[in-house]
Amino acid sequence: MTTAAHAQEKTDWKLVIHGGAGVIERDRLTAEQEKEIRAALDLALQTGSRILAAGGDSLDAVEATVKVLENDPHFNAGRGAVFTYDGANEMDAAIMDGENREAGAVAGITATKNPISVARAVMEDSPHVMLSGAGADQFSREQGLEQAPPEYFATPERRRQLEEMKAKKISWFDVDLKYGTVGAVALDSEGHVAAATSTGGLTGKRWDRIGDSPIIGAGTYADDRACAVSATGSGEYFIRAGVAHEICARIRMKGDTAKAAADAVMAEVKELGGSGGVIVVSPKGEATWSFNTPGMYRGQASAEGRTVAIFGDE
Ligand code: ASP
Repeated sequence: MTTAAHAQEKTDWKLVIHGGAGVIERDRLTAEQEKEIRAALDLALQTGSRILAAGGDSLDAVEATVKVLENDPHFNAGRGAVFTYDGANEMDAAIMDGENREAGAVAGITATKNPISVARAVMEDSPHVMLSGAGADQFSREQGLEQAPPEYFATPERRRQLEEMKAKKISWFDVDLKYGTVGAVALDSEGHVAAATSTGGLTGKRWDRIGDSPIIGAGTYADDRACAVSATGSGEYFIRAGVAHEICARIRMKGDTAKAAADAVMAEVKELGGSGGVIVVSPKGEATWSFNTPGMYRGQASAEGRTVAIFGDE
């Protein structure tokens, strides 16, 4: 085969990211915040794009992309994770490889700088799919992953949000109705998809509550036969609707386009009373999102370039 013919067989790579969905409207963000968030989303896209453009793996791309967002305090993941009711930061993350449907997830971890990397280590270096709490923290240390003290994750703005919630005696559903989970889905030039999601969960969560993000099939799923999905929103509803797997199932068994599948499942979430959004890529090269909130921090990249968006009308 000539090099040119071989090159044509390569798939066009795609990367889609989110940084959370919710009541994100123009009058709720300062010009400065908006600029910083757009720059952070673009930096994340650049990071993953570099890997994919060089022929790298979708799995490596989604992990590297999510790490950038975890490191940025604007998002509810890693540094800048929301506080639990008891004033701690407890994080959830999941990653999945569409080529072989291998998956790894962690819930309620407290000390790893990049939670998504523990999820990957669970997938690759343990016989399990999901670890939680103190055991997951111990596994992370044993894997030699970079640890960080509680002060690293805690930011004044997130503490203020917890205090506001407690003062107003409102539930986490009402805390400015913004979900800041981060996620990435990618299609690489070999035609494989992968998904990654990372979050601090919901402000004021109690009783070791776990959301949809680390639950394979709810907030995160990847299957080369269908698509890769990462979700953000009111996790309880996403778990009940089995959102990420349901989108893949519609594509695989019903022949839906990625957009039609995502819209249909987000409509189901809304019917149940939930809100949020999803990002999706498929091995066919579809790259899309769907959300039922006023805005979603999001972006996509391909060989053609990068775009980021925040508000629903963009
Ligand atoms: N889905 C996440 C959870 O319920 C929250 C978010 O998207 O910000 O834990």
